Amino acid sequence: MSDCIFCRIIAGEIPAAFVKRTDHVVALRDTSPQAPTHILILPTEHIESVEQVKDGRLLGDMMIMGRDLAREIGIADSGYRIVVNTNRDGGQTVFHLHAHLLGGRRLTWPPG
Ligand code: 5GP
Ligand code: ZN
Repeated sequence: MSDCIFCRIIAGEIPAAFVKRTDHVVALRDTSPQAPTHILILPTEHIESVEQVKDGRLLGDMMIMGRDLAREIGIADSGYRIVVNTNRDGGQTVFHLHAHLLGGRRLTWPPG
């Protein structure tokens, strides 16, 4: 989708700090980090939100990429969070499915 910022990043039209890439999923650094580690994990295919997901393997691949990144970065033992904000009350602002990998500090619960 030409008006989707994440599709434009995936197409190379907007620069981004990519950290991992497979055929179906990419990971890149969030430009407004909310923790020392804040990485976005998204499908290369444009899917608006988790509400539109048909293939559960895609969500599994996103989770596994987040877990593997947490291990590689060295925050797996201290802990991390993988979250998918969905629609208005979930706080979703970009309507191209993505998971946030957050870590590197003690995260509070419940979230705001
Ligand atoms: P949401 O609020 O939809 O769950 O998360 C969207 C995330 O995308 C936010 O954390 C925001 O900082 C990030 N973001 C928005 N625009 C860009 C961009 O152009 N590049 C990158 N890397 N992240 C972005
Ligand atoms: Zn998109």
